[in-house]
Amino acid sequence: MEDWVFTPSRAASTTIEFPSTIHGERIAIMSAILDEILSANRSYAAQFGDRSRLPMPPARRFAILTCMDARLDPAKFAGLKEGDAHVIRNAGGRATDDAIRSLVISYKLLGTREWLVIHHTHCGMETFTSDVMNDLLRSSLKPATLANGKWKDEGGGPGSREGEYINWLTISDNPQSVITDVERIRRHPLVPKDIAVHGFMYDVRTGKLSAVRGE
Ligand SMILES: [Zn+2]
Repeated sequence: MEDWVFTPSRAASTTIEFPSTIHGERIAIMSAILDEILSANRSYAAQFGDRSRLPMPPARRFAILTCMDARLDPAKFAGLKEGDAHVIRNAGGRATDDAIRSLVISYKLLGTREWLVIHHTHCGMETFTSDVMNDLLRSSLKPATLANGKWKDEGGGPGSREGEYINWLTISDNPQSVITDVERIRRHPLVPKDIAVHGFMYDVRTGKLSAVRGE
């Protein structure tokens, strides 16, 4: 655990060359990334300007629930700037209890009145089932690789059976998953009927959003 703790002295002394231990490797990777992030942040903060006076409630009174996929940038594809909207993200953009927790806070305390559920084409959540994920985790905790559409674990343990207690909410029918999540949110007892909930699919090949509607 201690190897995950970031300290400036460690960052300064590490290089991008990989040390021999796995924990050392983690530190080297993290430090290089942290340097880039902190450098970008210094530039951002240097021209922060009026954003220091933004109010907490989103100015445009809407929220987006979408996937964590790195190819999706809601600020860009939906034209958001700081202070405009809430963006809630998880694997698949699924309407989990925790996503609904955030949405309820978003309207009840912070005034949003319209929500968009946005899933996307070629989502990683379409590439496995809960059984596959649990098998991989039982085999080892190391990263698995995808080859010819199948996930493969390098094995060698230690793995864990804890995955069996998690609903991974994988996606087998992508448009249907949008409909299912929109319906779950609309029907949720903590969500008032006058909140507009829209379903969309984002195409990672074109950047376009298209509406997904149920029956
Ligand atoms: Zn995704």
